[in-house]
Amino acid sequence: MDKNALWSDVVGDLSLGLPVHAVNTWIDPIRAKEISNKKIVLEVPNQFFLEWVDSHYKKTINASVKKISKNKISAQFIVGRTADDLERKTIKNENQEEKRKTLIKKPSPTNKEYVFDCFVEGSNNQFAKTASQAVASEPGKQSFNPLIIYGGVGLGKTHLIHAIGNEALKRDPTLNVVLATSEKFTLDFVNGLRKNKTIEFAKHYRKADLLLVDDIQFFSGKEQTQEQFFHTFNELYQSQKQIVLTADRYPSEMKGLQDRLLSRFQSGLVVDIQPPDYEVRVAILMEKAEQNGIDLPYEIIEFIATHIKSNIRDLEGTIIRILAKSSLMNRDIDFSLAKEVVKERAGNKLDLGLSSESIINQVSDVFGVAHKDIVGKSRRMEIVQARQVAMYLCRNLLDTSLSSIGVSFGGRDHTTVIHAIKTIEQKGPKNPSLDKTIKSIEEKLSFISS
Ligand code: ADP
Ligand code: MG
Repeated sequence: MDKNALWSDVVGDLSLGLPVHAVNTWIDPIRAKEISNKKIVLEVPNQFFLEWVDSHYKKTINASVKKISKNKISAQFIVGRTADDLERKTIKNENQEEKRKTLIKKPSPTNKEYVFDCFVEGSNNQFAKTASQAVASEPGKQSFNPLIIYGGVGLGKTHLIHAIGNEALKRDPTLNVVLATSEKFTLDFVNGLRKNKTIEFAKHYRKADLLLVDDIQFFSGKEQTQEQFFHTFNELYQSQKQIVLTADRYPSEMKGLQDRLLSRFQSGLVVDIQPPDYEVRVAILMEKAEQNGIDLPYEIIEFIATHIKSNIRDLEGTIIRILAKSSLMNRDIDFSLAKEVVKERAGNKLDLGLSSESIINQVSDVFGVAHKDIVGKSRRMEIVQARQVAMYLCRNLLDTSLSSIGVSFGGRDHTTVIHAIKTIEQKGPKNPSLDKTIKSIEEKLSFISS
């Protein structure tokens, strides 16, 4: 049976039983990769997808495959990136040793999804991106050797170092790109020692045309590994091979790195990636929403960008979680769902800092007006005043837009927010008691945000 014919029958069958959004999100992206007498191999786009399908749809899909193939075939899932590995395994199973030998090509050392094209550029990372592109276009030829990219967690270092590898390979597929985390380098070294294969270890790393080592802070305190790395570095450097390293802090701030290694690093270029500012966060959310095929309304994007600030991995995680929740619980992607997810994520480890929630809570305490009334519809004078003060404070204290403030107040329009702010700006100076109250709330809030 033809793999595509079988799979398209299965999709037809699944569409009868599953909600449309589940089919769009979780079934359509699956591709039939291989078929044998016993199984059909289905390829999914990434690891997250695989886990999700495995826990939610695998049984249903398998049942449908069995039904349509009259119990002959069962389904197996793989992540697209490991397609090469699978190809090798299947062939091995079929005992085609000869063919296997010719098919084994060197597996790509890089994650193919991390390319420059989908790396959103902003003032926080522009220099790092430009330097990376320069190095990728002419490895070893620039005076940026080594190039060291440093910055906090989840800001895109790994993405950039893989993008360098991908771009360099695209330009020259014969280039020997060696990419490793510092942990992998250490592990390879230790294994080399154990198995008396240090020469092979040295060869593997020293014959690189482009050596990429991610997260070198983990070298700290590992004297022998540093020793090895030092020699590798020197050899490559002297033969003008390009070296790119990433770290979570500025090299000289890394404790436990030998001085001679640090002084080698100084011969190159050190670039930083800073946390993204509001505009960059919005741009990244838009890009990630598009990549994941979801249509996020702009207010929701603004809302997430306002509250999730620490890093890009968290922004991405938020989008994926919204997508997962909507699909699992069969809910529309709307503001209340986004708010729930942001709250959930903020509850654990995220630095929410000041938010419209905390501002409304303080105003509610001080004015003695319930939180739900502040965001509700009431036109009672004392409630309207509390609401206006809260909007005014949101505008002054949060790095957010008028329409996103409106959304936090029960979905009001941005013109209502402008009106509230103007009212308080005019009333405040004329009304010392109101002015004092506002100042006291600001003071309390400054504790939350510090
Ligand atoms: P780090 O290595 O600095 O901890 P990563 O490179 O792993 O961070 O980035 C975390 C996630 O955020 C990755 O999925 C990456 O693709 C994404 N990411 C980081 N920076 C950007 C950016 N500027 N544009 C698009 N995606 C980004
Ligand atoms: Mg990383």
